[in-house]
Amino acid sequence: MFLSQFTTLNGQFLLKWADFRITDEKASHSEPRWYSIIERRTLLDRLRSRRFKLNYNTSSKPLPNPLHIPDMTRKRVREWVTVYNPTAQAVIIGRVHNKSAYANSVVIQHWLHWVDNDTVSPSYLQTIVQPCPGCNLHDLNYASINASRDLTCSALYPSHHPVNFNQCRRLATDKYILLPSLYYLKQLAHKHYEQQANPTFVPPTLPRPIQPTDNITQNIFSIRKRQELTSLRSDFASARLLEFYTDGSLRYLKTD
Ligand SMILES: [Zn+2]
Repeated sequence: MFLSQFTTLNGQFLLKWADFRITDEKASHSEPRWYSIIERRTLLDRLRSRRFKLNYNTSSKPLPNPLHIPDMTRKRVREWVTVYNPTAQAVIIGRVHNKSAYANSVVIQHWLHWVDNDTVSPSYLQTIVQPCPGCNLHDLNYASINASRDLTCSALYPSHHPVNFNQCRRLATDKYILLPSLYYLKQLAHKHYEQQANPTFVPPTLPRPIQPTDNITQNIFSIRKRQELTSLRSDFASARLLEFYTDGSLRYLKTD
């Protein structure tokens, strides 16, 4: 186990246990005791912030792999997601409402978030969410997509852009507390979006030639012809006298 498993992507904050559980399904539901020992040892002011003492800062790290994205085979599951909206240039919190496996897209209802106490650091705060009553992110096309209830603020996203998380505690109808930190959710969604929008080029792996080539066979593109020639060559490797019958096309070739 390494401390870097439990840091935010920039290596400056210790994850909450709920943050760690976003990408590690095997992690226990409740926070283990040893985690609070790590907190006491590494945090600068553990009652107000998740920031590390300077000597515990680590370098920034890549996105955890695999990240969970909406499961398009489970049409009725309304996952909680965090997703980067390129129009607003901001990460939003929302719930998936419609999945189209055919178009690889999801309709996400926008939920507004705010914090319950502003005297402590944003990395420590609890985030409360409620459905957005309507803002400039709303796309009218998706208002009536749900037969039972209109969506006041929703838009379409590619299905591989949102990152799922499911740790929420219900306070009232349409009012929840997010257990993960907003700070970490935003980091995940933004970095994931950047990676999807600018994928690193991975060279395709070319199939290896079935048989090694040599000076003669390297000029023959057909693998089948190359194999035929190679097998003829091995069949006649010890022949001392060869007699050729041609269709006449070799008539003008020199014989020596
Ligand atoms: Zn909105």
